[in-house]
Parts: sequence; C-alpha cells; structure tokens
Amino acid sequence: MKAKIFKHIFMVAMAVFVACFALTMCSLYSYFSAERDSGMKEEATYVAAAVEENGIEFLNHRKTSSTTRITWIDSDGTVLYDSIADPGTMENHKDREEVKAAMSQGIGESSRYSNTLSEKTTNYAIRLDDGTIIRVSGTQYTAVTLIIGMFYAMVAVLLLAILLSVLLASRVSKSVTEPINEIDLEAPDDRDVYPELQPLVRRINGQNRQIQRQMEELKLEHAKQDAIRREFTANVSHELKTPLTSISGYAEIIREGVAKPEDIKRFSGKIFDEAQRLITLVGDIMRLTQLEERALQPQKTKIDLYETCEGVLSHLEHAARKRNIRFALQGTHGVLMGLEQIIDEIVYNLCDNAIKYNKEDGTVTVSVSEDPGWVTLKVADSGIGIPSGELDRIFERFYRVDKSHSKEVGGTGLGLSIVKHGAAYHNAKINVESEVGKGTIISICFPKG
Ligand code: ADP
Repeated sequence: MKAKIFKHIFMVAMAVFVACFALTMCSLYSYFSAERDSGMKEEATYVAAAVEENGIEFLNHRKTSSTTRITWIDSDGTVLYDSIADPGTMENHKDREEVKAAMSQGIGESSRYSNTLSEKTTNYAIRLDDGTIIRVSGTQYTAVTLIIGMFYAMVAVLLLAILLSVLLASRVSKSVTEPINEIDLEAPDDRDVYPELQPLVRRINGQNRQIQRQMEELKLEHAKQDAIRREFTANVSHELKTPLTSISGYAEIIREGVAKPEDIKRFSGKIFDEAQRLITLVGDIMRLTQLEERALQPQKTKIDLYETCEGVLSHLEHAARKRNIRFALQGTHGVLMGLEQIIDEIVYNLCDNAIKYNKEDGTVTVSVSEDPGWVTLKVADSGIGIPSGELDRIFERFYRVDKSHSKEVGGTGLGLSIVKHGAAYHNAKINVESEVGKGTIISICFPKG
C-alpha cells in the first residue's frame, strides 16, 4: 500500500512542481515581452518627436543603442538614415508591412521571426508631419531560445523537483500508512489515529464485537449440544439396560432349571417381547441419528400421502382391533416430494400413538387435504389427551407424559422425535391441539415441492 501511495503522491508533487515552473516561466516571459514592447513604443514616439524638431541632426548625434535600431524612411520608401547599416546599400522600404501601415494610418507595427525561430524582431513605425517614417526595431530571443539557453537551469530545477517530490511523497505516505499498520486489530482504540481513520477503527470495533458475540453463541450452542448428547447417552443406556436386565433374569431362571415347565413358555415369551422392544428401540435410535445427521439418500420421490396412510393403517389394524378402536381415512390423494421411508415413519408413529394413547372403543381419524402449495396430514384421536404444559416437551427424545405406564404401552419415547426431525427434513410444519380426556389432533403441513 505504501508503495502505491508513494507513487501517487510523487506523481502529483512532480506534476505540481513542473506545472508551477512552466507557468512562472510563461508569465515572466510574457511580462518582459510586454514591458519591452511598450518601451520600444515609447522610444519610437520620442525619436519621432525629436526628428520632427531637429531633423537628421538629432539622429547623427544620438548615441547608438545596442538593443534598438532606428531607421528613417522617406515617403517614397528610400532609407534616409539607419543606425546600423549604410542607408545607400539598403533596399526600398515602401513594401514593409509596418511602413505601409504607418504611411496610411500614421502608425504601423509588425513582427518577424528569424529563420531558425531563435529571434523575433518587432518594428514600430510612426509617420512624421512631412510624410517620412521613423521606425524603431528591436530584437529579442524567443521562448524556444530561452528554453534552450536555460537547459542546465531547467535540468537543475527538474532534479530539485524530483528530490522534493521524493521527500514529500515518502513523508506523506509514511504518515498515512504508519498509523494504519500500527492499529491493534484486537484493541483499535488503544492508539490515537487521524480523523480519516476513525470510520475504519469503528468498523473494526463493530466486527470485533460481532465476532465476540458469535463466539459466545457458538460456545453456548456447543455446551447445549454437549448436554443433549450426554443426556441422550444416559437415556439410551437406561432404555437398553431395563429390557436387557429382564432378558438376563428370565434366561437365568430357565438356565438354572428353577422355572416350572409350565412357566418356561411364559418366560420365553417375556424374553421375546423384551428382545422385540430392544430391536424397536435400536431401530428408532438409528433412524433418529440418520435424520439428525442428514445421512439419508437425498433422492426425493413423488409420494401419495393418502396411499401411505392406507398402508400404515392396514399394518396397525391388528393393534387397533385389540382395543376395539375404529379407523377412518378420509380426504384426497395429495402428492408431495419426499423420502418414502421417512414419510412412512411419520404417519406410522402418529397413528401408532393415536392407538396407544386412546381409550377402549375409541376412534382415530386420519385425513389428507391439499391446497396449491401444501399437503396436510391430520391424525385425530379420541384418546387421553396431553396436558397443555407438556405439549412443548413431547417431541423431546425419550420424553413421556406418563412415565409409569410407558412400559405397558410399549413406546420408546423416540416416536415424536423422529416425527419432528422427519418433518424438519421435509420443511414441514407441525401443529398439536389436545385436550385432556377428549383427544389429540396432530397435523403436519408438507410443502409439495
Ligand atoms: P412413545 O414411544 O412413548 O409413544 P413418543 O415420542 O411417540 O414416544 O411420544 C412421546 C409422549 O407423548 C408419549 O409418551 C405420550 O405421553 C405423549 N403422546 C404422544 N402422542 C400422543 C397422543 N396421540 N395422545 C396422548 N399422548 C400422546
């Protein structure tokens, strides 16, 4: 950055120096030219007046000047007198621009450049009363000659300009960049900076605060995740240990031969049930982990939600019949894009709960409806209901409203967690309405796309 700033300041300083120098030179040159021109005009007027008075006498006695040349020209153009050359050898001046002008208008003026453009001759001519012309000529160097003549002086000025520009550029670029480089990004307020840097310091401060906030949020999130993971591990261990203890107990009784022959079938049945419970639990844990880690095949397919419900209800028919619960499926064949296995799991868990937490002779009504963007599944039961204070918690892993009866009902406590994660996977919205003793309605709105 410093090199760039240096370069720019150097260029600007050089340009300013050179422009100032050129401007000064031009002004001086035109000032002196104008001074000289007016001097010559004055001299011409004075010589004309003197010749008018004293004739050739004045010219012969006048001291010759090194800078101006005086010529007296007759009204027919013949040169009568010249302060430098012999008038006899000089050609007729009738056609000279300034002479012609003076003859007709009283005064005339002209200027001519030499062949090499190094000199410029200016002539002023004044007509006297007798018709003769007095002409004053002066020669001066042109700007080109001056520049050539001043070559070394100009090189010296240029070198001085370069030197000054380098010094200036290096000082300025240092004073611009040093405070920036010295800003402590973690505590930018520690040093005083020039006012133009204040917005930068404010932004660094703002970003630092934002980073700090994000770090704290991350730490909090991390701690929360850690706590959830620890709780999950403890819950899983507990859930696995209970059936395994039963299995181990019944197996030991049979192995030791202490069980009566008529009890062996009953005990084997218990072992089978507990093993089934373990299989369901492990299956649920695996599905939940998959959903949480989003480790599922991402290929979504078209799913007819009504058909899925039909399939699930036919699976649950036996369980419903056992408690004399009546099913009703109604609505439309709403189609959505989703993962079949997960949608199936969601419908199954909701309908399974509607049976499990129902009353004898109760009803379960499953309906599918749709509007342009959404397909909605609604599972309503006439069951025990959920207290309003528990509604937020039923989607937590291993959370059960009635812990004491959970074993007879046979739930793992993971069903609604799978529903929640499965719905989130499909960007679906869940809504629960429940009244204790009357029943529960859980609806899920799936976006079609
Ligand atoms: P579980 O495997 O124990 O059924 P879930 O995660 O499916 O676990 O449900 C969590 C808890 O929410 C259940 O233990 C039950 O207390 C309550 N619950 C879920 N569905 C219903 C329902 N339809 N009616 C009443 N309570 C319900």
